[in-house]
Amino acid sequence: MFRTHTCGELRLSDAGKEVTLAGWVQRIRDKGSLVWIDLRDRYGITQLFLQEGTGDPKLMEQARSFGREFVIQVKGTVIERESKNPNMPTGEIELRVSHFTLLNVSKTPPFTIEDMSDGGDDLRMKYRYLDLRRNPVRSNIELRHRMAMLVRNYMSDHDFLEIETPMLIKSTPEGARDFVVPSRMNPGEFYALPQSPQQYKQLLMVAGMDRYFQIVRCFRDEDLRADRQPEFTQIDCEMSFVEQDDVLDMFEGLTKHLFKEVKGLSFDNFPRMTWHDAMKYYGSDKPDIRFGMKFVELNEVAQGKGFGLFDNAELVVGICAEGCSEYTRKQLDALTEFVKRPQVGAGGMVYIKYNSDGTFKSSVDKFFSPDDLKRMAEKFNAKPGDLMLILCGEAMKTRKQLNELRLEMGNQLGLRKPDEYAPLWVIDFPLLEWDEETQRFYAMHHPFTAPNPEDEALIDDPSKWGDIRANAYDIVMNGVEVGGGSIRIHNRDLQNKMFHALGFTDEKAQEQFGFLMGAFEYGAPPHAGLAFGFDRLCSLFGGCETIRDFIAFPKNNSGRDVMSGSPSPIAQEQLDELQITLNVKS
Ligand code: ASP
Repeated sequence: MFRTHTCGELRLSDAGKEVTLAGWVQRIRDKGSLVWIDLRDRYGITQLFLQEGTGDPKLMEQARSFGREFVIQVKGTVIERESKNPNMPTGEIELRVSHFTLLNVSKTPPFTIEDMSDGGDDLRMKYRYLDLRRNPVRSNIELRHRMAMLVRNYMSDHDFLEIETPMLIKSTPEGARDFVVPSRMNPGEFYALPQSPQQYKQLLMVAGMDRYFQIVRCFRDEDLRADRQPEFTQIDCEMSFVEQDDVLDMFEGLTKHLFKEVKGLSFDNFPRMTWHDAMKYYGSDKPDIRFGMKFVELNEVAQGKGFGLFDNAELVVGICAEGCSEYTRKQLDALTEFVKRPQVGAGGMVYIKYNSDGTFKSSVDKFFSPDDLKRMAEKFNAKPGDLMLILCGEAMKTRKQLNELRLEMGNQLGLRKPDEYAPLWVIDFPLLEWDEETQRFYAMHHPFTAPNPEDEALIDDPSKWGDIRANAYDIVMNGVEVGGGSIRIHNRDLQNKMFHALGFTDEKAQEQFGFLMGAFEYGAPPHAGLAFGFDRLCSLFGGCETIRDFIAFPKNNSGRDVMSGSPSPIAQEQLDELQITLNVKS
């Protein structure tokens, strides 16, 4: 037997046993006549012990010749430790070594392979296979595996079939940019890598599969923002003969199941909030409802007092930070600077302090009497000791700016606790979104999303397109969108109208989506679905900010795999075979 136990397995009850372990040398402590070695594998660390004058004298010499990350096999006797380590599962025992076999040597690793590594991000990514040996990274990958298994079992228990869909598909310009793959057999033609299996999963419903899911890789050639990966994983699902509630219940069930199994947490029914309310009260379609600080609109009480900025604004809106009236000049200036950063883009910020003695102090005292300020404070339901922060301007822009300020205050006040979870459904998204630049409507979710039945007639009136609500929903957690989906259009007529609203001619729609539309003429059932971002879900459950930490081999922020060095140029012969001529402008 190569090994009788793993390095995480032995306990005091094993004392006296003769065992064989194998693993990596994490650390050697040499105290002259005594030597200890920490031997590590995926399951843990076991301390090896050698003492001069006992056993084979060559052992000591051998032990001293090992370096960090050498791979060894070791035989020995389990003994009780003199100084126990309660922080380690194997901390009560050590192994008195009787035999070593060196299995492989290692160069000195470029960073320490311990929980707190001294390696910077770039270095750890370049040697990701070494980074993966570290506990925190490995445990993230283990969590991911566990979640994948839980998802698979849950879905299968609810009659979903896992069905693979193609990776080489037809390119469609709607949505994000496609990654494309040239076809050698069809020169000048390209496949696209799927941004999601959307059309295939709908075809599977036409095919009568009834319930489909897949844990599937998706690809989007987007400009990389922080924490985006060009390839990422979805839990992709589709169901037939369902209404919105059926879908929300099913996936709320899955989410609760994950919480219960992974975190031991139980939840009441997830709250549901319309997109309209999410924007009005939080300035975001993915509000973090772990804390309050809901927006309060102040036009009624703030306008008409001669303060031009307020008077000319479409919206005056603010938040109330409880117990912050003691904020210093410096802190308030920093908040003003925060909202003025180009990423937030506000012109400035007004504050009102409701002092604990009941008086007011504001940055607009010139324009507002104490009574005026009191009226505003009442709108906020503010108490003495609170601080009100107010922005103004064009409604939607101002709400988004205030969202940033609210989240910042949430951070500053420690209200966004990583071990607290606040899931929520956001429903009734707009169906279509106007784009100023291209002067056309885009599908907010995707072109197959059905309108809310109450708004369906509006699709015949172009002036109302912006008002149509979609039968679409997102699942949001702690300010992060973890999934989204919609009821689909299964009626050819309505789909044609939708394409029309999106500015597609009949020919263009036919060319791009003809195969799906054609299928819909053969008895498409009513159907709906949803996809979770699996990487993000894992990172939330892992209490970590970045999805990269939950992907074994992620790309860096420029979309590069620094370990393998991709993307990279290809050989001229490969290009010739593909009949591709490069015209790279550098
Ligand atoms: N395919 C959609 C997406 O990737 C999800 C869905 O509508 O099911 O966002």
